[in-house]
Amino acid sequence: MPGPDGNVIVIGAGIVGVSSALYLARAGLNVTVVDPLPPGSATSFGNAGMVRHDCNVPVAIPGMLRQVPGWLLNPLGPLVLRPSYALKAAPWLLRWIRAGRMDRVNIAADALWKLHESNLACYRDLIGNDTFEALVREVGGIQIWESEGTGLSDRITAEINRRQGVVTEPLSRRDLERLLPGISPIAKRGLLYPNNAHTINPHRLVTAIADRVRQAGGSFASERVLKIIPREGGGYTLITNTANRSADKVVVAAGAWSNRLLEPLGATLPLETERGYHLMLPSPSIELPMPLQMKNRGFALSPMEHGLRLAGTVEIAGLEAAPDERRSEILLSHARALFPDLKGGEPTMWMGYRPSLPDSVPAIGQAERHRSLYIATGHGHTGMIGGGSTGRLLAELVTGSQPHIDPAPYSPARF
Ligand SMILES: Cc1cc2nc3c(=O)[nH]c(=O)nc-3n(C[C@H](O)[C@H](O)[C@H](O)COP(=O)(O)OP(=O)(O)OC[C@H]3O[C@@H](n4cnc5c(N)ncnc54)[C@H](O)[C@@H]3O)c2cc1C
Repeated sequence: MPGPDGNVIVIGAGIVGVSSALYLARAGLNVTVVDPLPPGSATSFGNAGMVRHDCNVPVAIPGMLRQVPGWLLNPLGPLVLRPSYALKAAPWLLRWIRAGRMDRVNIAADALWKLHESNLACYRDLIGNDTFEALVREVGGIQIWESEGTGLSDRITAEINRRQGVVTEPLSRRDLERLLPGISPIAKRGLLYPNNAHTINPHRLVTAIADRVRQAGGSFASERVLKIIPREGGGYTLITNTANRSADKVVVAAGAWSNRLLEPLGATLPLETERGYHLMLPSPSIELPMPLQMKNRGFALSPMEHGLRLAGTVEIAGLEAAPDERRSEILLSHARALFPDLKGGEPTMWMGYRPSLPDSVPAIGQAERHRSLYIATGHGHTGMIGGGSTGRLLAELVTGSQPHIDPAPYSPARF
């Protein structure tokens, strides 16, 4: 069952898959997105919504790594490793620690910078001005610290920001009181990133792109891909839970689940899931002008169109373990440490699976030894900040047009 010329199957309808699909459809390819879930129903559903974070620092950096042993001892801290999963995660954790060497940090930071630079312009291009203005707020973001002094990771971040020309403005305790009425005395200082932007609903951003995929002639199939089989003479047959599908080219954008499809093809990535949680307060008693991040507690408070989202923390526990609801609930204690009078109505809990590579840089491009198989995954903490521009780069690589940035730093073959 040969497919039509130029037909592409994109596996995964998260932010990365739909952005890739729309750029591919606009380039004239016949695109089908295959996912058992409706668009934007996995990790892209419940994140903190930052679509431009004008700071491109990878997760593993020297100052942060020093804090890890202390964090691991606290089961409700910003980073937790489930003991039952420790052996399985050990190889990835070792690579993650090695990625925290300063020379590698600088390479990763520059790769993230180049990818993230055009992301907002890509979203505007994908969904059009009106929908972009309805969904994205370009109002900045604030990082908050509970201590007066700066640590090593703050100094490394400041140096990378300086090198990349990222604009920041230090905020004193008095500035924080002025900008954020009711903020508790634990907030000692802050840093304003005036060029940051967030979406007021990540799910709606994904579905808006998905709608345009359909308008551009693409289609969605509600199926789970079980195996990708290379065909003699080129192309692939996909066995899904209900069908066989043929494709000249395949894009694996299946987020944290990508290795299940890549492994049988010998194209495995060092991909681990950093699970994260949110707690949604539908009727918050405070109104935030922009998202706030508390680095030492590993979480953010993001104003959404349907309430206040408390989101973040990292749990290394794989793809199978049930959520630990205490990690959602603790987010409310963190938020109340910052805003003691915070009330919010009946909260809802959520957990998502960040697809993380050790160096925090996503894998975008051709799979090794498979010329028609492309990979777009591994965005970790920055899938919304780099999803649109990933779609653009991926489509440029699939169609053989001039890439807008050097694709080498994102090559899946770099591992
Ligand atoms: C708490 C939290 C807060 C975050 N905050 C931010 C933020 O503020 N900004 C930011 O940039 N990032 C943030 N992130 C990270 C961001 O959400 C992810 O990087 C991003 O959503 C990943 O997108 P994706 O398309 O790769 O994966 P997903 O959205 O997970 O989509 C993958 C899709 O693949 C499908 N799939 C899997 N296997 C198969 C298969 N076999 N067949 C067919 N389909 C399959 C799944 O059903 C799913 O729909 C946050 C994450 C968390 C958990």
